[in-house]
Amino acid sequence: MTLALYNTLSRSVEPFAPLAPPRVTLYTCGPTVWNYAHIGNFRTFLFEDLLRRYLAYSGYDVVHIMNLTDVDDRTIKAAAAAGKRLDEHTAPFVQAFVDDRDYLRILPAHVYPRATQSVPAMVRLVAQLLERGVAYQGEDGSIYFAIAKFPNYGRLSRLETRELKVGARVASDEYAKDDPRDFALWKKAEPADEQVGAAWDAPFGRGRPGWHLECSAMALEQIGACCHTQTLDIHAGGVDLIFPHHEDEIAQSEAATGQRFARCWLHGEFLNVRGTKMSKRFGNFLTARDLREQGVDAAAVRLLFWQTHYRKALDFTDEALAGAGAGVKRLGEFYERVKRETGNGKRSGRLAELATKFETDFRSALDDDLNAPRACAALFQLVHDGNAALDAGESGAAAALGIVDRAMAVLDILPTAKAVDPTLVRWVEERIAARDKARKGKDFNAADRIRAELRARGVEIEDSASGTTWRLV
Ligand code: AMP
Ligand code: ZN
Repeated sequence: MTLALYNTLSRSVEPFAPLAPPRVTLYTCGPTVWNYAHIGNFRTFLFEDLLRRYLAYSGYDVVHIMNLTDVDDRTIKAAAAAGKRLDEHTAPFVQAFVDDRDYLRILPAHVYPRATQSVPAMVRLVAQLLERGVAYQGEDGSIYFAIAKFPNYGRLSRLETRELKVGARVASDEYAKDDPRDFALWKKAEPADEQVGAAWDAPFGRGRPGWHLECSAMALEQIGACCHTQTLDIHAGGVDLIFPHHEDEIAQSEAATGQRFARCWLHGEFLNVRGTKMSKRFGNFLTARDLREQGVDAAAVRLLFWQTHYRKALDFTDEALAGAGAGVKRLGEFYERVKRETGNGKRSGRLAELATKFETDFRSALDDDLNAPRACAALFQLVHDGNAALDAGESGAAAALGIVDRAMAVLDILPTAKAVDPTLVRWVEERIAARDKARKGKDFNAADRIRAELRARGVEIEDSASGTTWRLV
């Protein structure tokens, strides 16, 4: 079987076929850095992380581009409210995004174009659209995209033309437009924009880019530079971006280049809280730093998200997170056990067979439109059956370890190693040496006392032919 993905454009699961294999160009809409991203935003970024990692596992060379929206209505408003200039206001939130991303073990994109640093490409794109006659200057001085000039408009969101509503981030001054559905490409500079430093000169007037335009310009600029193409293999984001954001990105990009903008569109469903979308607006949000401060292992957050398919809504609860935490712990114990066994016994054996079966199930699950819940179920089946095989003294640990390691390059859900204090390490080593001496002198009472002493400080020891090993529990 090969990878198949649900393409929002066709509303069906299609075999995945990039334009120039093994290369895959992937563009994902990044965070708007007006504030801290919440874990709803990170559910989308984590689904994209799974996608990217599974593409790599499947042998593709992924070029991952994620933009940072550092100028739009929200960032300007937030900067003004804080009495800061735009870049001054967004800088700490860019850093926070990087910290949270690393905490959640999301692989960094290969490039993070920032909207404020990509304005020349945006100006060029608007000029091109004006030249082609698909954009016009409204009476208010802003530049608009003329939807009527782009017959494919609405194909992604499948909204009938008459149903198309004016999108949330469209310049609201409707009478300046020829058609109320038209959206702003370039918004004429207002005093509020100037005040925070969010205005740039352009041949068609001083102003700032519209949010939709930003993504088209950054995506086209980056794939042109890295890969000499104007067509993305995959464009992804949350379901709320299908309309108007992605619909508008297609219109702008395809009207300018005459080429298909993205071959495959992937959209992740929401993280909810009691059935309502997690959102800053509703005040029902939790940030990644909240979880980190509560000492939540990022592996548990990842497993929690993997346990629901990316195209299904997921309700966040503390109980579900705790359940995922317990799963991660069980997986970690199994992994350590398999690792300890790798020195003993043969490569082949029951454990290797179980792991090979798991690998087949894992691949067929993820090949099927990234069915991570099924992949996780196969993994926990391996933990269950593998533990039983180890109890029965079966071999094959080394081969099993290799397979689990490969799966972890995708899921990445082993528990975070506890930081070990070097003074504790010295103390443990000294105690183990003392216990060895006691055992050699046949003083088993003393040896047991030392074991209890170690356990009291959370240290579990295990004796084997090659010596005594220890771990924190
Ligand atoms: P923003 O920072 O608002 O531009 O959003 C960044 C990404 O988070 C977008 O892809 C959104 O679709 C996504 N997003 C926003 N809220 C949620 C949510 N509750 N669950 C999942 N994804 C979300
Ligand atoms: Zn975007």
